[in-house]
Amino acid sequence: MKIHEYQARQILADNGIPVPPAEVVRSADEAAAAFKTLSSPMCVVKAQVYAGGRGKAGFVKLVRSADEARHSAQFMLTHRMVSYQTGPEGVPVHVLIVAPGVDIAKEYYLGITVDRGRGTATMIASAEGGVEIEEVAKKSPEKVLKEPLHPLLGLQPFQARELAYKLGFKDKLASEAAKLMTNLAKVFLKYDASLAEINPLVVTKEGKLLAIDAKINFDDNAVFRHKEIEAMADESQERPLDVRAKKANLNYIALDGTIGCLVNGAGLAMATMDIIKLHGAEPANFLDVGGSVTAEGAIEA
Ligand code: GDP
Ligand code: MG
Repeated sequence: MKIHEYQARQILADNGIPVPPAEVVRSADEAAAAFKTLSSPMCVVKAQVYAGGRGKAGFVKLVRSADEARHSAQFMLTHRMVSYQTGPEGVPVHVLIVAPGVDIAKEYYLGITVDRGRGTATMIASAEGGVEIEEVAKKSPEKVLKEPLHPLLGLQPFQARELAYKLGFKDKLASEAAKLMTNLAKVFLKYDASLAEINPLVVTKEGKLLAIDAKINFDDNAVFRHKEIEAMADESQERPLDVRAKKANLNYIALDGTIGCLVNGAGLAMATMDIIKLHGAEPANFLDVGGSVTAEGAIEA
């Protein structure tokens, strides 16, 4: 399950990670008013969508007046955002944040996800942040540091310190960075996340460490343990068929082909897709209605 950046920022802030304040707005007028409220010479207006790559797509804008904030907000709220993460149809934008702009000295990447090879949650860090971490990993894998989380102890203090020094942090900033890493690891475990990412984590020109973007995904199989997270779901960001399938308890994944599959059991569903592909066609979906499906469930499927 995904949540918006403003919700992820709140979770980070609640767990001791320094995040700039932000106003959540839903109209151009509210954006202009937020610029005045924040009384910062520069602010950043950011679309809240379940996808990254907003900066390059023009949905993260630095503004220097209430009028500029209004114009940027107007544009974002009336265009779907299309980025390398969304596909050509893009995603709708209904909510924005306005946050005080930060003077960035350097951008870092910091994230935690499950390393399936090792079978552990793993912290990933790089001094080459801000840009697509996938590109850094491809072109210069030595610039991406990884540290596995102990299944019971989480990220241990010596690991956080070592990562902080390897990223080039010194003195006070090194201990602040290590503390931030420890807190991010706690967030990951506490909320049963599948991804907790700060990109970029920045050092400001005044020498402060700040998380200025935040993304948290949750393990769908554990969301029932976190009612407050479940309540954050924004269905407007999901494809309508996905929302409908979820409500009917169906395992449904939309694909690009032309042959619809309605199958009892995931194994048989995959075998059916394989047979379709073997004969040169493409499945339109993966759909496992499950072994204990009811008549209503089958009709909905
Ligand atoms: P993403 O593209 O969806 O990951 O959105 P981000 O929130 O990461 O913003 C993209 C980029 O915009 C960042 O990597 C920064 O370079 C820039 N940016 C975001 N907020 C600020 C800010 O407050 N000040 C400055 N100078 N740049 C910012
Ligand atoms: Mg980012």
